Amino acid sequence: MGVKDKILAKFRCPKCGSTRGRVKKLAMTGAGLFDRWMDWQRNKYYFVSCTNCGYTEVYDAEVLDGRDDISDLLDLIFGR
Ligand SMILES: [Zn+2]
Repeated sequence: MGVKDKILAKFRCPKCGSTRGRVKKLAMTGAGLFDRWMDWQRNKYYFVSCTNCGYTEVYDAEVLDGRDDISDLLDLIFGR
């Protein structure tokens, strides 16, 4: 199970309470473009959106991908 799936399994919108969400893993740099692989590696984020109200939260992918106990972390984030 990937990190995206784990996020979706735990997702609960803090604004409207919906459990329907979607996750995108995107790269951002200061310039809005990525020109080097290492920049891309350093600037990955999970965009977690509520499909009911559109509220979006952003998480640093390097942090989430590097955690062994992501389920516990997600319990904390989404309060479930
Ligand atoms: Zn919502």
